[in-house]
Amino acid sequence: MTQNEQDSDNFETRAIHAGQEPDPENGAVMTPVYLTSTFKQDAPAVPRQGYEYSRTSNPTRTALEENVASLEGGAWGLCFASGLSATNALLASFEPGDHIIAGNDLYGGTHRIFRQVYERYGIEFSFVDARDTEKIAEAIRPETKCVYLETPSNPLLRLTDLSATIALAKDAGKMVVVDNTFATPYLQNPLALGADVVLHSMTKYLAGHSDVIAGCLIGNDPALRDRYAFFLNSCGGGLDPFSSFLVMRGTKTLAVRMDRHCENARAIAAYLESHDAVARVHYPGLESHPQHELCQKQMRQAGGMVSVELVGGLEAGESFSTKTRLFTLAESLGGVESLIEVPPTMTHASIPAEDRRAAGMADGLVRLSVGIEHVDDLIEDINQAL
Ligand SMILES: *Cc1c(COP(=O)(O)O)cnc(C)c1O
Repeated sequence: MTQNEQDSDNFETRAIHAGQEPDPENGAVMTPVYLTSTFKQDAPAVPRQGYEYSRTSNPTRTALEENVASLEGGAWGLCFASGLSATNALLASFEPGDHIIAGNDLYGGTHRIFRQVYERYGIEFSFVDARDTEKIAEAIRPETKCVYLETPSNPLLRLTDLSATIALAKDAGKMVVVDNTFATPYLQNPLALGADVVLHSMTKYLAGHSDVIAGCLIGNDPALRDRYAFFLNSCGGGLDPFSSFLVMRGTKTLAVRMDRHCENARAIAAYLESHDAVARVHYPGLESHPQHELCQKQMRQAGGMVSVELVGGLEAGESFSTKTRLFTLAESLGGVESLIEVPPTMTHASIPAEDRRAAGMADGLVRLSVGIEHVDDLIEDINQAL
């Protein structure tokens, strides 16, 4: 392995090589799973290679951290036991009285940790329609410390104009955090546009096989890394070695998986749009989508998630979600297998109904995580269920 291969301009090469070198002693090509809680020191407080205790750091986790940092174009990465554990380290670094602006269409668990956990510690949140850059600008106060964006958003696949929002936040001296879970670093790189921190639920596309829960924070500023590493070490929640290995196995194939996820989702969105039982399709890759132009500017492809409102509303949505055979009724997303769910009663049930409706989420909304099965089989499955 040369430095060149790890630093390649090409995503596919970095996905397979960054952070990972054959073992210098025995030649093992894959990074071992270092199942150890502690590390022998050469003298008191003189650890080898900086490793002391696996809550703080572990070589398998380090390999993954270097890998995902490289994929997002960041100087550092920190890996956590879940996406929300990464969100937790981020939020723990704010002070009572600090204010955070977020989009009003967010992953339900993110909304819950904001409102039901951190509001109790005196952090204030404003939720705005993040499609509208003006609305974000208007919400900025002197106490605002952070603009927290999710684009495409979950579950409505709305986009925030990253360049415009980052520019206005920087002008006002505010940090910007982007949850890049839906896009993945293969489709969109917020750090390159000036974001301070990127967050992932690596449970989803980065791991990609629905077999592990994991999250990360990635950035460039070493002071931010130190701050989040302090909370990771002080509060726990670092990713364990075996899960680190599983995510690293996933990132190697991210590019080829995403190409197929996107291709299948595009075909399914177009099919749904033409179906009589369908009232509305949310997919930014469709020409009819109001933010299609922004999607083309900001994302390499439109992603693998599609949301749909049926003519028959909630009842039709619930019935549809139980009649598919290949699309499994389950929460989560981003795995190779297709999943279907009803956000208002499943992933987003922790958001009060009036907040959901105000944000534009229909009660009968159905969300599809389009997998990489053969697209003909997926469309046939949707057709029979509708
Ligand atoms: C799943 C998800 C999270 C939370 O991640 P976990 O790994 O489940 O803790 C955060 N943001 C988005 C967009 C998600 O889909």
